[in-house]
This record gives sequence, C-alpha cells and structure tokens, in this order.
Amino acid sequence: MLVYNSQSHRKQELEPIEPGKIRMYVCGPTVYDQIHIGNGRTFLSFDVIRRYLMFKGYEVTFAQNLTDVDDKIINRANEQGRTAAEVAEEFSDKFIEQMHRFGILDPDIRPRATREIEAMQEMISLLIEQGNAYAVPSGDVYFSVRSDHAYGVLSGRDLDQLRAGERVEVNDQKRDPFDFALWKAAKPGEPSWPSPWGDGRPGWHTECCAMIHRYLGTPIDIHGGGADLVFPHHENETAQAMCAWHEPLANVWMHTGMLQINEEKMSKSLGNFYTLKEVLDRYPANAVRILMLQTHYRAPLDFSFDRLDGAMSSLDRLQSCVKNLRWAAEAAPQDGCLTEADRALGMAIDSAEKEFESSMDDDFNTAGGLAAIFGLVTESNKYLSEAAGSIETAVTLRAADALVELCNVLGIDLAKDSAGEELPGELVTLAAERAGYAGSSPDEAAEALLAARQEARAAKDWGTADAIRDGIAALGLVVEDTAAGARLRRKKG
Ligand code: AMP
Ligand code: ZN
Repeated sequence: MLVYNSQSHRKQELEPIEPGKIRMYVCGPTVYDQIHIGNGRTFLSFDVIRRYLMFKGYEVTFAQNLTDVDDKIINRANEQGRTAAEVAEEFSDKFIEQMHRFGILDPDIRPRATREIEAMQEMISLLIEQGNAYAVPSGDVYFSVRSDHAYGVLSGRDLDQLRAGERVEVNDQKRDPFDFALWKAAKPGEPSWPSPWGDGRPGWHTECCAMIHRYLGTPIDIHGGGADLVFPHHENETAQAMCAWHEPLANVWMHTGMLQINEEKMSKSLGNFYTLKEVLDRYPANAVRILMLQTHYRAPLDFSFDRLDGAMSSLDRLQSCVKNLRWAAEAAPQDGCLTEADRALGMAIDSAEKEFESSMDDDFNTAGGLAAIFGLVTESNKYLSEAAGSIETAVTLRAADALVELCNVLGIDLAKDSAGEELPGELVTLAAERAGYAGSSPDEAAEALLAARQEARAAKDWGTADAIRDGIAALGLVVEDTAAGARLRRKKG
C-alpha cells in the first residue's frame, strides 16, 4: 500500500521496519482547554489510518502523549487561581472523554510529559555531551541547530534563508536565533523539577522525542500530526533524535491538512471557533466522521454546518439501508435458486469491497472508501425495490454485513446510533387500545398496529385506519412503506 511521506514529498510503498508490525506516534494535545474540531480532525485522521492498518493485518502499536506542562497551562492556571497540575488533569480527562465520544480508539501508550522528566533529562545530557546542546547561565538548555547538518531537511527549509526571512525572538543567550529550548529554567511559582542545570521544566519539542525513544524505540514507522507541526516542532524532534542516537526518528512522516470554516481559518477572534464537544453535543459522532472523511486527510477540510447536515442525511441513508436489508431478509426469507437481481447484488458487494480497499491502499483515500460504501447503498436499495417479493436471505444479509464492516474500518459504528431508534414503550398501550395487543414488546406492538391499520384499510374503514396513523404520529413516529412492507420509525428533525 502507498503512503505519502511528507519528508520525501511523495507516495511510497509502506515497508514496516519489523514485518507485520507498525509502530506509530501522533503528537497529542496541550491540555489547557477543550480541544477544537481542527484538533479533532487530526486525531480522527490518524484513528482511521490506524484502524485501516489493523484491518490490513498489521500489529499496530500506537502512542500519543499528553503535554501536561506548558506556558499555556501555566497561564490558564494563573488566570483561574489554580495549580497547573489541576488544569492539566481537568483537561486531560476532558480530552479523553471527547475522544471516546468521537469513537477514537485509546492509544496503547499514553505518556504524560510530567511523568517522563528522567527520560528527557537523559536525552538532554547526551546531547550536551555530544556537543549538540549547551546550558546557559540562566539555567536554560538550548539545542544548537548549527551542530546538526541535516537541520531543515524534514520541512525543506534552509537556515540562512530562515534567518533572513523570519522574525524570531531576540535572546542574547542563544548562539543562533533558531536554537530552541530543551530545558527551561523555572520562574517563580512555576512547576519545576530538579536537574543538573538547575530547577526547571522540559521544552515541548523534547517531550515527544524522548517518549518515542523510550516507549517505541527509534526509528518508528510512522510519525504524525497536523501540517502546522512540520516546522518547527517535527523538525526539532527529528534533529534531536538524529544527534542523540544517530538515527532518524521516523521512517514516514504524515501530516494532516488544516480544518477551515467556510474557507476561512478557524479562530476565536473571527467567531467561527467550535470545540469538538459542542459539535458532538449537537450531532452524532458518525455524522461528523462522515463529513470529515469525505475529504482526503492531507487536503484542507472545509467545515460548515450545512455540510454537516448533508452528512447527517448520508448517515441516515446508510442506517436505513442496513436496517431495511436486515428487515427484508427476516420478513421474507427465501433461499434457493438465485435470480438475476440476487447475482447482481452479490457482484455489487464484491466490487464495493474491492473499490474500498484499493482507495484506502492509495494513501488512505477515505473519500474513495466512502464512495464505495454509498455505491453499495444505492445498489442495495435498487435490489430491495426490484426484488421485492423474492428477496434472497443470504445475499441480502451479506450486503448488510458488508456495509457494517466497511463502515467499521472507518470507525463509523452503525450499531451505535441505531440504539436511539428503539421504539417507544407507549406503543404497547396504543396497540392494546387499537389492535387488541396483549403483550409488552414495543416491536410486536408496532407490528400489531400496522397489521390492524392494514386490515382497516382493506375493509375501507378509513376512520380506524386514520386513528391508528394519528396515534402513531402522536408518538413521534411515521409509517415508512418499504419494498418489503410497512414499518415504523422515528420522525426526523
Ligand atoms: P495542539 O494541542 O495545538 O498541539 O494541537 C493538537 C493537534 O491538532 C496537532 O497535531 C495540530 O497539528 C492539530 N491541529 C491544530 N489546529 C488544527 C486545524 N485547524 N486543523 C487540523 N489540525 C489541527
Ligand atoms: Zn510532538
């Protein structure tokens, strides 16, 4: 399968370091607030990449850090009169909660910066010993970019051009304006740890590098993050690994495109800023996934609530199709000789599975994967209407299973939202009144009501038929006429 490597700027065959195994790392959030939907897009992209690698049979080990000490956390703590540790703990928990709601698989390893101080100090000492880093009188330790001949290779930047073109902070103690802090001397009131260079805390770039080395071993197969991390974060990460251990940090670097709102950058000041939580409070995770996966992970993603409503309808089409297939197979079981239509559906399943895999094999083309799924939805709906009366059980169930399984690879869990489709208990009372039903199951009550309505209509007893329909509508349900007969479902919207 082909994977785009942002370091080589081309797609290349995925060649695991250890056959059958993939070790991957994706930079985690700085935990000072709820994450926004842009962060959500990056984490979702790598969740799908990981799930697809697992689907292809790889044994994937996935690590993701929590940056739980940082200027932003300290500032937030000072604003709120709390400790940095309290702020970090609150937003680590909130981050994990939103990841679960979004259906993102837990990492196998989730290291936290504040618990990895020793590993980071070991790496910094090694860099100082080897002449790649230096401590200054204030107690900061800097990485010397000039000591690394390969500095700039990952992001394709040249240090001299950078120095001429970009504004960098003025700091007398640095030997080069692009030298970056590996260790920051403690200011009064800040969280700090003792070190050979004085009390302080680690720099952000140091964290990921030391954790990767400790938990996964370098080099790893895949290192990921948003495209905004290529420079300086990933450039600095790889420079440290190259200098400390004389080996690259990762074989393949993968970066996701930025999420934009109505083609504009999302920012708090523009008022078009949304947290993942507020979007998941309003829309099912499956719909947000469908929206995001319609765009290739490397392209910018245009987010809008109109598009999200469109994704809701797509999700509804998908769920209805699976339900109707299952329902038709149960309602009218028929096995035996295959008709033309049965064979055509069988072929549509095979080709959807092939198209899904060949799209995803091409650098995780989820838009192509979704197109294959929705192509099978169209073919299945066609089958249900054309083959009404002679539905073949096995092929019909196979179509439903294929849709569920392909969705699952993309983390779209069709079982999840259908839980909300359970019929209300009040149907039992209505069926007792109108259809003489004596049981307690809402599903059976629905069947009894539909049968009574059908009977009334056949007898041209419109009064009774309408009364049943109105009673059903009062419970927020509609009668849906499908090829395999009528059924009840919740009214949308
Ligand atoms: P941060 O907590 O800022 O380090 O961000 C966590 C992850 O979200 C990083 O991989 C970022 O690259 C990514 N990210 C930040 N903003 C966006 C955005 N607008 N669209 C997509 N990914 C983003
Ligand atoms: Zn990182």
